Amino acid sequence: MTVPILDLKRSFNEIHPEISAAVERVFATQGFVLGREVELFERHCAKYLELPEDSCVGCASGTDALLLALMAIDLKPGDEVITTPFTFFATAGAIARLGGVPVFVDVDPESYNIDIQHVMDKITPKTRAVLPVHLFGQMTPLEEIAPKLKERGIALIEDAAQAFGAVRVFPDRIDRAGTVGDIGCYSFFPTKNLGGCGDGGMVVSKDKAIADRLRRLRVHGAGKTYFHDEIGINSRLDALQAAILDIKLRHLDEWNEERRKIAEFYKLLFKANGLHEYVTVPEETAGNVHIWHQYSVRVKERRDELMAFLEGKGIAVRVYYPLSLHLQPCFRYLGYHEGDFPQSERLSLEIMALPVYPGLTEDEQKEVAESIAEFFVKQGEKSQRYS
Ligand SMILES: *Cc1c(COP(=O)(O)O)cnc(C)c1O
Repeated sequence: MTVPILDLKRSFNEIHPEISAAVERVFATQGFVLGREVELFERHCAKYLELPEDSCVGCASGTDALLLALMAIDLKPGDEVITTPFTFFATAGAIARLGGVPVFVDVDPESYNIDIQHVMDKITPKTRAVLPVHLFGQMTPLEEIAPKLKERGIALIEDAAQAFGAVRVFPDRIDRAGTVGDIGCYSFFPTKNLGGCGDGGMVVSKDKAIADRLRRLRVHGAGKTYFHDEIGINSRLDALQAAILDIKLRHLDEWNEERRKIAEFYKLLFKANGLHEYVTVPEETAGNVHIWHQYSVRVKERRDELMAFLEGKGIAVRVYYPLSLHLQPCFRYLGYHEGDFPQSERLSLEIMALPVYPGLTEDEQKEVAESIAEFFVKQGEKSQRYS
């Protein structure tokens, strides 16, 4: 049995007729960039995220969402932005692209998210923003730092590219990923939990002045067409993506719920197969509703050997991310060294993402867990028997 790392066809097949109708509707209007489809989708996102109606701004990608957010806080060359070294490149790339200085803080080994306890220690007079990532679909507990940052006039920008729909639950309220800080950034890259049929992204702010500015910045800084208040970029969401995403948004909760069931079942399977000695399963930390964009386990030893074994059996696994950002060649100028962020560095050696997506079957999950058990437990038993 082969198990792909991701099979988008499975969830797409459910909604194929709806998507086709939406695409035909856009073709009939021949309006392809921004316009009514994008406005409708933005409004539906605002409703889903429980934000004011005009707080969502569609743009061309998650990377651009980060770039626009940092432009909207007037990030200047030399300004420092505190972020995590264990994330997709775009998080730190957007900071550096504007001349900002990424200042890394190591991650919490359990949640893989930035260690919130150490963020405040890294603040200097040059700190303009903190940019945490809700990695793999689980939120960073921002409530611990948000008031302190506000007091100091430091912006809080969330990279929620992997966490559309993730929440933290409190007795009196729910915090939604991307809506806790000043600005939230989302990606609609096809592989994300809410993914389009091409690139797309969204940047949101409940502060109307910031949202209005973001809306200008995405069209070359023009408040009125051909009249430029400031220098922006071209980063617009197109109507086809918006029409498609609008349909997928209606299914998002159900798909995220399915991912949660898959995660539960993996946990059960790993336990049933006696794998705890070899593999640490990811945990949903206190207060979180994890939406499992990725299901990444930690393999304490022989990860690469295990990966080769699984790939040989047709089971696809991946490493997100194999090299911490502070050790990337392009960031050498920042002056970091191996050993600076031991948790992040260790994760990149141990982490392994398993298939997790709507439509993944229990039999496929069993095949994954039993194959891992075959590698560790059964091979171990064999070598014991013959030694
Ligand atoms: C995907 C992703 C991005 C970038 O989104 P794109 O739409 O691919 O530009 C940024 N940050 C994180 C954490 C991501 O996973």
